[in-house]
Amino acid sequence: MRKIQMVDLKGQYKKIKEEVDSSVLEVIDSTAFINGPKVHEFQKNLEDYLGVKHVIPCANGTDALQIAMMGLELKPGDEVITADFTFAATVEVIALLNLTPVLVDVNPIDFNIDIEAIKKAITPKTKAIVPVHLFGHCANMEAILEIAKEHDLYVIEDNAQAIGADYRFSNGKRVKAGAMGDVGSTSFFPSKNLGCYGDGGAIFTNDDDLAHTIRGIVNHGMYKRYHHDVVGVNSRLDSIQAVVLNAKLPHLDSYNKARRNAAKKYNAAFKNHEKIITPSGLSSCNGICDTCDCHVFHQYTLRVLNADRDALVEHLNSLGIPCGVYYPIPLHRQKAYLDSRYKEDDFKVTNQLVKEVISLPMHTELDDEQIEFITNTVIEFIDNN
Ligand SMILES: *Cc1c(COP(=O)(O)O)cnc(C)c1O
Repeated sequence: MRKIQMVDLKGQYKKIKEEVDSSVLEVIDSTAFINGPKVHEFQKNLEDYLGVKHVIPCANGTDALQIAMMGLELKPGDEVITADFTFAATVEVIALLNLTPVLVDVNPIDFNIDIEAIKKAITPKTKAIVPVHLFGHCANMEAILEIAKEHDLYVIEDNAQAIGADYRFSNGKRVKAGAMGDVGSTSFFPSKNLGCYGDGGAIFTNDDDLAHTIRGIVNHGMYKRYHHDVVGVNSRLDSIQAVVLNAKLPHLDSYNKARRNAAKKYNAAFKNHEKIITPSGLSSCNGICDTCDCHVFHQYTLRVLNADRDALVEHLNSLGIPCGVYYPIPLHRQKAYLDSRYKEDDFKVTNQLVKEVISLPMHTELDDEQIEFITNTVIEFIDNN
């Protein structure tokens, strides 16, 4: 059996090596390293793929979120509601901008921000909601957009983990993750579903004015050379990353399909196990039918019930099966984000998930033999402990 990787970037690279190598060398030869034509080409390609009017490439996914928020009319002290169960970048940029993060609980089905919890958290100071499409599945955007409309709030989608995912509205309309809110952001960190070979990110919006504002913010607040109208940042995607992304974008749907196929096999093996809850989406197909892209499985995350999750992690690692615990500590209990307003009772689901979740290897190159070994090992451990 091939060695099991949490993410197999090498196997994926081998299949596109010729194209990537030659286009990287072309960039070096052209010396158009920053803001070259390849970055513009990628921007257009991604706009077409997502069906969004404007893509603004930038340096990483954390910058993308920060810049997205800088582009909106928010002022210090405004409250921004986001999920307690996510990567810290989401809450970090809210705090960095002197906005007030308001963390709320998630739902136990797809681990995304809980709609009732959002409603409960709204105050006159609330100005925005940041849903995170965690592990590759969209948050309940229909409900979130409705709440936002009712209370006049911005919606900023943190789409670092779900690029390529579809969201289906109840009227049947399908929209790509990241293209539904006022503004969306993503990351091209190498292990993300569309990863480059370094750091990269992008911001999406359908709003022409906001796109213009953001294009200035990523470039030192400059709208005319050496005229600085707003305080900006320096955040750019370089051309070498853009050509890697241009090579990979046409494969994104098949990459996501390969992830979904692996997830289906995992799901089948764990089916009906009384101590294992497999990941599922809220849509009827659970996001893994052959005709939709509702779940792109950035992570394949199980909940293990009444079992020693940490011992399982150790056991898997000892047998050469990498795995991860995303995330082991809720954000509301992180030192940097403590807030006397938080009550443990308001975070029942997150507090439970941090004890139960385990993410298994998930990437485009998993084969049946590896999946069988992983699932057998997990089941055997849980049955015998
Ligand atoms: C990866 C990630 C980010 C940050 O992306 P970087 O490119 O690493 O800065 C933000 N939010 C979520 C949910 C992520 O998973």
